[in-house]
Amino acid sequence: MGTRVVTSSLITDFLRQAGGAAVIDGGLATELERHGADLNDPLWSAKCLLSSPHLIRRVHLDYLESGADVIITASYQATIQGFEAKGYSKEESETLLRRSVEIAREARDIYNKICTESSPTGDDNDRILKHRTILVAASVGSYGAYLADGSEYSGTYGDAITVETLKDFHRRRVQILADSGPDLIAFETVPNKLEAQAYAELMEEGDIKIPAWFSFNSKDGVNVVSGDSLLECGSIAEACNKVVAVGINCTPPRFIHELILSLKKATTKPILIYPNSGESYDANRKEWVQNTGVSDKDFVSYVHKWYELGASLVGGCCRTTPDTIRAIYRTLASRSAAKLIALN
Ligand SMILES: [Zn+2]
Repeated sequence: MGTRVVTSSLITDFLRQAGGAAVIDGGLATELERHGADLNDPLWSAKCLLSSPHLIRRVHLDYLESGADVIITASYQATIQGFEAKGYSKEESETLLRRSVEIAREARDIYNKICTESSPTGDDNDRILKHRTILVAASVGSYGAYLADGSEYSGTYGDAITVETLKDFHRRRVQILADSGPDLIAFETVPNKLEAQAYAELMEEGDIKIPAWFSFNSKDGVNVVSGDSLLECGSIAEACNKVVAVGINCTPPRFIHELILSLKKATTKPILIYPNSGESYDANRKEWVQNTGVSDKDFVSYVHKWYELGASLVGGCCRTTPDTIRAIYRTLASRSAAKLIALN
């Protein structure tokens, strides 16, 4: 029973310590590419677990130094099935999953050490060096992300896919990740009700000792990408005791306002928001269409509003950078301080 109490209060305690608002990190793939990684592969950023773990660690560290309180592991597209298709054994595949969590934890350890050794002001040029609770969230991408055919943005899996199929697909991976020492599981870019249900059942029935967050994506600002009701998806998360936060990721910033309002009708749990840059993704060409998004300045102008509406964890998804996250950090630091003053 002891663990259950710890589990349910993880995010609320964390948010209280953070002053009511916390920062999630930003896009991983974009930054890995900027550091020279080649991600032209169905495994996407998971490919770096094999080829260049030091780059992943570097990007995690960049985000921590930009003010992120939560770092998300490079396991979004890392699946046992995906690695096996590349010729890796089951054991090797499981080792790679564990590595994704270890790399994030190593980055956190390095960051804590830098903070201890830094000047007491906690600021070093543009680096934010401030001792605080940092959470490692183990990313689980959807079944559609494994298919790598863009179906995580359509949510259309076909009639052959059931809750049981999805549970069988995710079960071992979720267990391995949970046992590798992250603080929580981040189910990201959940495209439909079916997969939300599968995750909720896995969390309840498995021997999973940590909590999870559920994050959906939308392409119309009303429903999740499959067309399923966000209200219904949010209710599935609300009903699962092991879900400690619910939100939206990889969705254009302009849709977020309405989506927060909808989510608030479905859940009383903390709401998290990490939109993409607003650029459009060409699923056929498997690339982002340049210059179709919002600037960091515009992105951040939304952050005030999202916070006021009730989002308490804010970060960025695809195509956002450490600059975006630093700007969110500065905005939320002043907002939560203002709220505390108002409360006193
Ligand atoms: Zn994204």
